[in-house]
Amino acid sequence: MNTDTFSTFEELGINDALLHAVEELGYVQPMPIQAQVIPVILGLTDDGVARDVVGLAQTGTGKTAAFGLPLLQELDLERAVPQSLVLAPTRELCLQIASDLQDYAKYLPGCTILPVYGGSSIGSQIGALRKGVHVIVATPGRLIDLMERGAADLSEISTLVLDEADEMLSMGFSDDIDAILAGIPSEHRTMLFSATMPAPIARISQQYMHNPVEITIGHKNEGAANVNHVYYLVHAKDKYAALKRIVDYYPSIYGIIFCRTKAETQEIASQLMNEGYNADTLHGDLSQQQRDLVMQKFRMRHLQLLVATDVAARGLDVDDLTHIINYGLPDDLEVYTHRSGRTGRAGKRGTSIAIIHTREKRKLAEIERTLGKTFERGTVPTARKITEKQLFNLADRLEKVEVQEEEIAPLLSPIYKKLSWLSTEDLIKRIVSLEFNRMINFYKGSEDLDIPVEQTKREKSPRSGRQPSGNVSHAPEPGYVRLFINLGKRDGIRPKVIMDLLNANVQRHVAVGRIDLLTNFSFFEVLQKDARFVIKDMSHVFFHDRRIIVENADSMSAEEDGRQRKGKDKSRNAESPSRRSRKSSQEADSPFWEFYKSNGKKSKKRKG
Ligand code: AMP
Repeated sequence: MNTDTFSTFEELGINDALLHAVEELGYVQPMPIQAQVIPVILGLTDDGVARDVVGLAQTGTGKTAAFGLPLLQELDLERAVPQSLVLAPTRELCLQIASDLQDYAKYLPGCTILPVYGGSSIGSQIGALRKGVHVIVATPGRLIDLMERGAADLSEISTLVLDEADEMLSMGFSDDIDAILAGIPSEHRTMLFSATMPAPIARISQQYMHNPVEITIGHKNEGAANVNHVYYLVHAKDKYAALKRIVDYYPSIYGIIFCRTKAETQEIASQLMNEGYNADTLHGDLSQQQRDLVMQKFRMRHLQLLVATDVAARGLDVDDLTHIINYGLPDDLEVYTHRSGRTGRAGKRGTSIAIIHTREKRKLAEIERTLGKTFERGTVPTARKITEKQLFNLADRLEKVEVQEEEIAPLLSPIYKKLSWLSTEDLIKRIVSLEFNRMINFYKGSEDLDIPVEQTKREKSPRSGRQPSGNVSHAPEPGYVRLFINLGKRDGIRPKVIMDLLNANVQRHVAVGRIDLLTNFSFFEVLQKDARFVIKDMSHVFFHDRRIIVENADSMSAEEDGRQRKGKDKSRNAESPSRRSRKSSQEADSPFWEFYKSNGKKSKKRKG
C-alpha cells in the first residue's frame, strides 16, 4: 500500500465530524501509523477490503488516533449498545484512551465512551453500562468481572482493539483475553498494538485475527532511534553509590529509575529522599490516591526522579524524560525496550542508562544483540568531575535566575552593606565555595567505583564465559553469599519467580545478585547481611505444596563434606538446614549434594 497518497485526514476517509475535532486538536497531517492503519480498517486499500491490523508501535507514535478515528467512524450512534471494545493493560492507559476518544468524538452527537477499570466502584460502572454506551475502554480483569455479572454485553461488538498487547500478556492477562475474545461475535474487526512481538502475541494474532496486515512503525524490537544506551559497570555493592553519582552528574535530570522489586524500589527511593534528592516512589502497594498524587507531582516536574517498578510505571505517560535508569537489567528484553522507549520521545534525545555488575554483562550482550545497538560504556563520574559539573550548573543558575527586582530591593541594602568589603572576585569565590564545600564533604574519601577495563577483561576467563548450568560453582560477588534453593527449572522457576518469592516472604529488602537456574534446584546470591534473614523467612514457605528450602551453599557443602568423611549417620537426626533439605526434598537425595558429587571441587576431597 502506498501511504504517500494519504497526506491528509480527509484523504484517509475520515468523516467531517471527526475532521473537525482533529483540526481543533491541531493535528495537521496524519502520523505514519495513522496513514497506514486507517485505510486498512476503512477498506480504502488497493483491493478495497477492510482487514485486521497488527501494529508494532510504541506509545507516542499516534496509535490512539490510528485505531480511535476509524473505530468512532464505524459506530451506529442510533443504537446505544457497545459496538467497539478497547482493551488496555492499566487504569491510567484506559483513562488516557477514553479521554482521547472523547476528544475525537466531540462532534459525534450522543456518542458515549465508557472507561471501566479495576480499583474503582463497579456499581457506578454497571449503572453507566445499563444507561447504554457505544464504546467500552477496559482493563481485562474488570471487564471479565462485568461480563460475569451480566453487566457488559459484548454481543454486538464489531471492532476490538488490543492496545499494548505485550504489556497485557506480561501482566498475566492472557487467560482473561482468551475469555473476552470467546465472548465476542466472530464477525468483528481486530486491531492489535504492541511495542514488541513475542511469541504469545503472534499466537493471539494467528488464533483470533483474520489475515491481518502487519504494520511496523520503527523496527521490530528496536529501542527508539534517538535513545543513547549507556552502561556503567560496578561491583554489586556499589550500585547505589554509582546511581547517586550519575544523578549528581546530571543536575537537570528528569527521569525514572526502574528497580526489579517493590522492596528495592522503596529502599532506593527512601535512601535518595533521606539524602536530599528530589525523588519519590511508585509501586503496587500505594493506594490509587497516593499513586495519582506521585504521578501528578512527577508530571508537573515537582519531582526530578521517580523510582518505580515496571508495573507501577505503566500508566505514566510523560514525553520529555531525559533519562531512564535501569537499576540492574530486567530479565526480559521487552521490558528493557519498554523502559528505554520512555525517553527520546517527541523528537528529543534521551539516554537509557543501565547500572550493572559484572555478572550482568552476558544479559547486556543479549540485549545489544537483539536491539542491534551497542551500549556505550560510561565511566562512573569521579567526585572531581561531579563537583566541576555541579559548580558549572550553579554558575549557570546564577546567570539565569529570575531577579524579582521589586520584591527583593528592600531586603538588599543591609546585605550590600555587610558584603561591601568583598571584591567581585572574592564574592564569586565565596558563593561557589558554598556549593564546593558541600560537595567536597559529601564525597570525602570516596573511591572510584568503576571496575577498570583491565579487570573486566580478566573476568572473561573460561569460567565466567560459560552458561549458568556449567558455571554454578564460582565464588559469589564480593559482599555476597551464595544460597541454594530446592526449586529448579523443572518446577517452572525463572529468576522472576525467585525474586517474587523473596519479595513476598522476606521481611526486609533483599538485594539479589546472580541467579543460576538448574533443572532441579537453583542458586542465588544475596548480600551477606541479608543471608540469615532470607534463610529464616523462606524456611516456612511452600511452593505448590512443596516446602522451600534455602541454605547457604558454602556452609552446606562443608557440612555434607564433614559428614561424609566421618562416615556416620548421626547427622540424620540433627536439625541442620541441610538435614531439613534432605528430609523434605521430593528428590531421593539432596539435589545440592548430587551436584557436588558430580561437579564440585569438594566431592574430590571427599574421595581422598
Ligand atoms: P499516542 O501514541 O496515541 O499516545 O499519541 C502521541 C501524541 O501525539 C499525543 O499527544 C497525540 O495527541 C499526538 N498526535 C496524535 N496524532 C497526531 C497528529 N496527526 N498530529 C499531531 N499530533 C498527533
